[in-house]
Amino acid sequence: MVQLTKVNKYFGDLHVLRDIDLSVGSGEVVVVIGPSGSGKSTLCRTINRLEPIDSGEIRIDGQPLPAEGRALAQLRADVGMVFQSFNLFAHKTVLENVTLGPIKVRKKPKGDAEEKAMQLLRRVGVANQATKYPAQLSGGQQQRVAIARALAMEPKVILFDEPTSALDPEMIKEVLDVMVDLARGGMTMVVVTHEMGFARNAADRVVFMSDGQILEDRTPEEFFDAPRTDRAKDFLSKIL
Ligand code: ADP
Ligand code: MG
Repeated sequence: MVQLTKVNKYFGDLHVLRDIDLSVGSGEVVVVIGPSGSGKSTLCRTINRLEPIDSGEIRIDGQPLPAEGRALAQLRADVGMVFQSFNLFAHKTVLENVTLGPIKVRKKPKGDAEEKAMQLLRRVGVANQATKYPAQLSGGQQQRVAIARALAMEPKVILFDEPTSALDPEMIKEVLDVMVDLARGGMTMVVVTHEMGFARNAADRVVFMSDGQILEDRTPEEFFDAPRTDRAKDFLSKIL
């Protein structure tokens, strides 16, 4: 579903992604971990072309990433993204946040979009907040709305960039529970997170990044029980 081949990216002199090879199969859940500054967010942003790459190739469902125009808009619609900071539209209600993309980009009739949105809001447990504005919700509720908004586009893959890092501790579980439910339901997911419990429970593979490189790409059991590289051992000793 997602295939990166020899992807390189620079910010000026900083070589932020180095020869990245990564493939994520349909229904697979890949957790990306690594120290701050190792390139995890940049990796996510290149996958839906929020950031251009300097060399290499990215394919989504077999299709190369288009550079611009309608083809790019279509591709972005296939690649959902959930950010650390929720990024809901502040001046729109919860329901409008979830229906906007399907109506504008997918050209769904408003009634259909609203019906689907309410189903998704029920699925993530915030249907009773549908007429409220984001600022009236807790962080955990806002992030669950952001997940419903991503799902409403019927994406082929969803990228999560530290989706629980901005949440108070008591709200982390309610968001992780929704993500585990999605993972078990067969959604293709790339998840940058420091939640090692999620990685162990829900990931098919753990990718460890350091200094723009993928140093390990293995099952959670293999990775956590016997990390191969010193960088990974060092990282795990600090967070576990
Ligand atoms: P991570 O998500 O793993 O913490 P990032 O992908 O955010 O890492 O950043 C990787 C490196 O690229 C860091 O050194 C960061 O400072 C740098 N970087 C990220 N975004 C930009 C940008 N827009 N311009 C210049 N440097 C950037
Ligand atoms: Mg980051």
